Amino acid sequence: MELAQHSSKSRRVSEVTRTVVVRSAPLPRRAFKVFVELEGMYRNMVEQLVLYAVDNGITKFTRLKAEKYREVRSLYPQLPSHYAYTACQDAAERAHSFLRMKKMGRARKPYPEVRGVSIWLDDHLWRAEGLISISIATHRGRIDVSIEPTKHFLRYANRGWRLASEAKFKLDRGERRLVLYLTFRKEMSEYRPKDYITVDVNENAEAVLIDGLVYLLETGLSKVTLGYHYRRKSVQERYDNVYGPGSRPARKVFKRLSNNERALKKEIKWKLAALIVREAVKRQAAIVLERLGKETAKRMIEHIRNPQLRYRISQAAFNGVQQAIEEKAKEYGVPVIYVNPRNTSKVCPIHGTEIIYDGRNRHGVCSKGGETWHRDVVACYNLLLRALGGDGGSAPSRVRALVAVDGGPVPLGPTAAHEPTPIARGAWARWKSLGATSGGGKYEEKRLGTNGNPLSSHKV
Ligand SMILES: [Zn+2]
Repeated sequence: MELAQHSSKSRRVSEVTRTVVVRSAPLPRRAFKVFVELEGMYRNMVEQLVLYAVDNGITKFTRLKAEKYREVRSLYPQLPSHYAYTACQDAAERAHSFLRMKKMGRARKPYPEVRGVSIWLDDHLWRAEGLISISIATHRGRIDVSIEPTKHFLRYANRGWRLASEAKFKLDRGERRLVLYLTFRKEMSEYRPKDYITVDVNENAEAVLIDGLVYLLETGLSKVTLGYHYRRKSVQERYDNVYGPGSRPARKVFKRLSNNERALKKEIKWKLAALIVREAVKRQAAIVLERLGKETAKRMIEHIRNPQLRYRISQAAFNGVQQAIEEKAKEYGVPVIYVNPRNTSKVCPIHGTEIIYDGRNRHGVCSKGGETWHRDVVACYNLLLRALGGDGGSAPSRVRALVAVDGGPVPLGPTAAHEPTPIARGAWARWKSLGATSGGGKYEEKRLGTNGNPLSSHKV
């Protein structure tokens, strides 16, 4: 009965986009030379447009085009006119992000440098010829370029995604190839949820409630942030001693460190999101997340003193993981439900009474039933109750709501120690599905535990 609550809402349709990188086959010298010329002209247009845009505080494509299109168009009359159009889009975006950086005091130069150029294409400037070739308009007529489709590319092409009209390409001078950035689009409508998976975001782990079990999937996101913070600090001290503050070699090392940090966090986030979404699809379940607010951020970073780190850690954990889950969920039509995170770890999911934590660890005792709870297990069940609309009611309705999840017996015995199953990052990151590969036996064991027998507190 409770499950009917969300299905009465109209099902959302959302558009999902993904950019895929493919390379062309090596081009004949003559054809490549045309693209080199094209790049030169395009770059020149973008440079002039960016200067003008920054000088005049223009960040909108429409205004830049209104004021400058004619002029840049007349620079290269031999070029298809739409390059002047896409150069305006390109330049407006560069000016926009530069002016934003400048406002934050992070711009080092008076103007943005136009270094790496990707040439922006619209529907007039290119078209796909099947899946193996594209044709690009140039100042020397259309040039057909055959592409080397990757597995990734074919996966999108064969699964009902359609190619968007916007695309970009870059020149690979060493190999005389074009590097193409193609965008795929797909519309997905959400399915009607038959079940729920709840996810409680923490700084170093996500607690996930699936089939009456809480898994603690370790992400170490806060540890990664801290680790890189200290590495940067020690690099700074060493380099400042040798080269003086703010030196070029130090900046180079910083850049590499932050690239590595970003890449690692990105990988963790997307793998985790993919795992959770796969489990949701398998069960046709909705994913329940906390609606993020100040309170959750505060809880997560209350023990961290350094303000810069506080900011970075909350950013990494929140925006990152939730956004990745949301994006992945859209791709597979998984409904995502947001619930109020207030007090989710403070109230007993069975009795509705306060859980007393001793402040030293993550375990607390229910003030009515006296049973022991792990904070993250409490949070997951309360998120579920909120999604079901069953919290705030009397005790029997809470139990009913919990039972409603799988229709089985009361999953939480009053004397059980409600423990999550911690899973290290190295383990879950290799899994195709939760518990199915390396933790198969343990998974069964845990399931038995929740169906009546008190859980032993063994750790995986
Ligand atoms: Zn209780």
